Amino acid sequence: MSAQHSIAIVGGGPAGALAGALLAAGGREVLLFDEKLAWEKPCGGGLTHKALRQYPFLADAGSESNPVEDCELISPSGQRVRFHMQHPVAIFSRLALNGLLLERARRAGVDVRKQRVTRITGNGGDWQLVTPQQEYRASHLMLAAGARNPFRGQFLPPIPPSDLMVTAGYFLPGRSSLMHIQFLKGITGYIWVFPRADHVSAGIAGKMGETSTAELRRILEKWLGENGFALDDGRFYSHILPSFRPQTFETLEVCGEGWSMIGDSAGLVDPITGEGLYYALRSAELCAGALLAGRPGEYQGVLEEEVLAELKLAARVSQRFYNGEIFGESVLERMVSLTEQSASFRELMSDLFAGVQGYRDLRARLYRILPSVMAEGLAGALRRPWNKSGGSKFAADALAE
Ligand SMILES: Cc1cc2nc3c(=O)[nH]c(=O)nc-3n(C[C@H](O)[C@H](O)[C@H](O)COP(=O)(O)OP(=O)(O)OC[C@H]3O[C@@H](n4cnc5c(N)ncnc54)[C@H](O)[C@@H]3O)c2cc1C
Repeated sequence: MSAQHSIAIVGGGPAGALAGALLAAGGREVLLFDEKLAWEKPCGGGLTHKALRQYPFLADAGSESNPVEDCELISPSGQRVRFHMQHPVAIFSRLALNGLLLERARRAGVDVRKQRVTRITGNGGDWQLVTPQQEYRASHLMLAAGARNPFRGQFLPPIPPSDLMVTAGYFLPGRSSLMHIQFLKGITGYIWVFPRADHVSAGIAGKMGETSTAELRRILEKWLGENGFALDDGRFYSHILPSFRPQTFETLEVCGEGWSMIGDSAGLVDPITGEGLYYALRSAELCAGALLAGRPGEYQGVLEEEVLAELKLAARVSQRFYNGEIFGESVLERMVSLTEQSASFRELMSDLFAGVQGYRDLRARLYRILPSVMAEGLAGALRRPWNKSGGSKFAADALAE
């Protein structure tokens, strides 16, 4: 058994690697385990402007990522609209992103080990971690083992299927500067095509229990075929993705006596968009900050205030976003139409995709832009069904509720 370390991190994905780098840079002795180290984790790899602004070294990654400025949205009925994003999304291969973050951790002084942690025992102040190679001891345990976190049950209730999405996808050869998002009827999720520097990640996500992975795969393959993407040289992937309900976020505990959870292992993913990379990085930063300040328990509070408040709201809006109607038409159809017809609405969509428009002040912005949206020629399209519903409901209310 090796000497006691200050902090052991299980998982070297974006969350674990960034937390390790920050803690080591702050003078802590950090041991990090990842069974695979850098690998092509099933993912779109899209990093929003919000993430690039917060972590400028990722914006400077150059050829490691593909800056995508144009997006095509496709409604369930097939209506298509392309729009320019003011702030590009940087699309990374996960092999490159994880490699870059792990290298930063190593350079900061983290002891990075390619080992699978198979057992954790002990308690706050004295944890024992077992790998096939060795046993280790640590004072603080940070769980960053992703959505399939095998140790979650030791600290928190297991994630029920109703709090998960299933995904299926392909890594395909090809290059492009256009990303595609196809919304689907009856599926709480979407198809994405995210072009990376030297290949494309295309996938589909849906709520667990709603549609089987096999069915999602069939829908994706059909869509790819119809949209000119050949599967011949593609590599299939599938993974789970946390998609918490509001009540799950309400009761979520992310730390306790001598332990903390960050990233996917804590379920920190936007239930509408599936964005998890920013939250993995930000939770790592907030958790590392609390540990470095010598007040580890403060992680819960700062996360609640900044991250959980936003994710809770997304969880509340999610059902309405995917399955709701505005004036007799689905929210998704209406959203694609508005993106097509109104420059102000396109700007809003661009900011939502960049992550610079949060959910908390979305309703206020929708109210603010409503006059321009109408002036841009939407009055007719909106007024008729609006009147049908009694004339008392504003479009902004319906979209932001
Ligand atoms: C199909 C799909 C598409 C997605 N697309 C996007 C996207 O475009 N943009 C976005 O922002 N988010 C996306 N996400 C979410 C994103 O992938 C995750 O939020 C992100 O990877 C979370 O990072 P993490 O470090 O918490 O966990 P992970 O990236 O899952 O890292 C966990 C690490 O822990 C290691 N590990 C696990 N168990 C052990 C163990 N016992 N011992 C040692 N090591 C262990 C694993 O090897 C892994 O490297 C997507 C998710 C899926 C499934």
